[in-house]
Amino acid sequence: MKVTAIPAFRDNYVWVIHDDDSAVLVDPGEAAPILAWLEARHITPVAILVTHHHGDHTGGIREITARHAVPVYGPGNETIPGRTHPLLGGESVVVEALDAAFQVFASPGHTLGHLCYVAQGALFCGDTLFSCGCGRLFEGTPAQMHASLDHIRALPPDTLIYCAHEYTLDNLAFALKVEPDNPALRQRLADVRNLRDQEIPSLPVSLNTEMATNPFLRCAVARVNAAASRHAGRPLQPGLATFTELRSWKDGG
Ligand code: ZN
Ligand code: FE
Repeated sequence: MKVTAIPAFRDNYVWVIHDDDSAVLVDPGEAAPILAWLEARHITPVAILVTHHHGDHTGGIREITARHAVPVYGPGNETIPGRTHPLLGGESVVVEALDAAFQVFASPGHTLGHLCYVAQGALFCGDTLFSCGCGRLFEGTPAQMHASLDHIRALPPDTLIYCAHEYTLDNLAFALKVEPDNPALRQRLADVRNLRDQEIPSLPVSLNTEMATNPFLRCAVARVNAAASRHAGRPLQPGLATFTELRSWKDGG
């Protein structure tokens, strides 16, 4: 099982899980680059997995399914074009052609029906987690997003995380405001600059690395709590209150 990034729009990645014959497409926001990639390699799509309803994750579905009648899995409580298999979390999506099973869990926060998919040590998390950041709360509450991130934190530490956007450098600038003295953050910044200079994605990233660098996964860490409290101008509890402050701080609040 290989995972390849197909860039879409300005900073989206459509993740393609494939072998030499078959492919699963995660969040195909655009059809043209994906169809070209598949056709050049004579690879046939066998399923589409959707994390949430936003157009940059769903815009290519109709054009792809017009050519390839594949099942489309996605949130059952959101409007997903072409969806054939509504999911709410807790299911397993079996893809026989790749001999793979994706475990599905609900991750509300960015949207209310947002889903994550896990297979063979790989997490496809859409806009829930970004490297050194997390999704904006368009529909859900801070408590929902905090719980969704807790679910991710509980995965095996060597899990590789495939986020849907290349936001890492921007997120690192914020993370360094929160924790200027975190050596793991400085190392990650150097690594990501090096990758981006060569136009290589900064993803996937291991959960281990995120636990050491992503402030939104570090709301129980004393220094992160202290920075959030300083920004709020009052002492905050570690955990949810710290998360809530970090999210609004990053949003410019
Ligand atoms: Zn989104
Ligand atoms: Fe998005």
